[in-house]
Amino acid sequence: MNIILLGPPGAGKGTQAMKISKHYELPHISTGDILRENITNNTNLGIRAKSYMSKGELVPDELLITIIKERLLQNDCSKGFLLDGYPRTIPQADALNMILTESNKKLDVVLDIHVDDGELLKRLSGRRMCSCGASYHVIFNPPMVEGICNVCKSKLYQRDDDKAEAIKNRLVVYKKQTQPLIEYYTNKGLLHIMDGSKEIQQIFDDIKTVLDKI
Ligand code: ADP
Ligand code: ADP
Ligand code: ZN
Repeated sequence: MNIILLGPPGAGKGTQAMKISKHYELPHISTGDILRENITNNTNLGIRAKSYMSKGELVPDELLITIIKERLLQNDCSKGFLLDGYPRTIPQADALNMILTESNKKLDVVLDIHVDDGELLKRLSGRRMCSCGASYHVIFNPPMVEGICNVCKSKLYQRDDDKAEAIKNRLVVYKKQTQPLIEYYTNKGLLHIMDGSKEIQQIFDDIKTVLDKI
């Protein structure tokens, strides 16, 4: 199964992706995680991406297209993949179509997680991340031990772009650059809208209902 998770920052893409990836044994490809790893390791890509990310801007398409092309060629994607945070622009979606066509693959479904802005602000400002990709919330989804990841026991941190100014900009950027993908994938007959305001487990049950029909 080849899946895209779409939705604004804070919708719960990462949270649901961890569950989907485990249940359906699909590689979870988060472009945000890949970029943050490059920043931590001080690679050329990380150095270029950092200034965009800290302001809540999108990293240029050409860099993202290179990342995703390389990642989709890896062996673990042969039986399917789960994209979280890519594509975020129409040119990225067009590039993905080309990459998939060249390798005789196609998308099966685009899950679009809907949450209103007020709720997104609450979610992003209370988010705590782990370097392993797990995300928590101080109130809505706290870890078992405060400040420590349940999965890998590392110390949790708050992302630079989860602070007030960058959050506002990310929501503006989402509406302008990413939201047009909803129509794009509706026209391809691939879009499924998920109500992201529900409880984490309830949303996952709704997602399974959609995926089990594919
Ligand atoms: P995204 O990857 O779309 O930016 P995350 O999965 O990181 O979103 O979730 C954003 C924040 O909201 C995190 O703090 C997460 O724990 C919390 N969260 C995720 N899903 C829900 C939900 N259904 N209800 C309440 N909080 C949620
Ligand atoms: P969120 O979980 O809030 O949706 P991500 O972790 O997916 O955020 O992405 C964090 C940041 O990384 C984005 O604000 C953007 O700067 C950059 N980024 C991630 N994916 C892409 C992409 N496909 N295109 C451009 N920039 C991206
Ligand atoms: Zn962890």
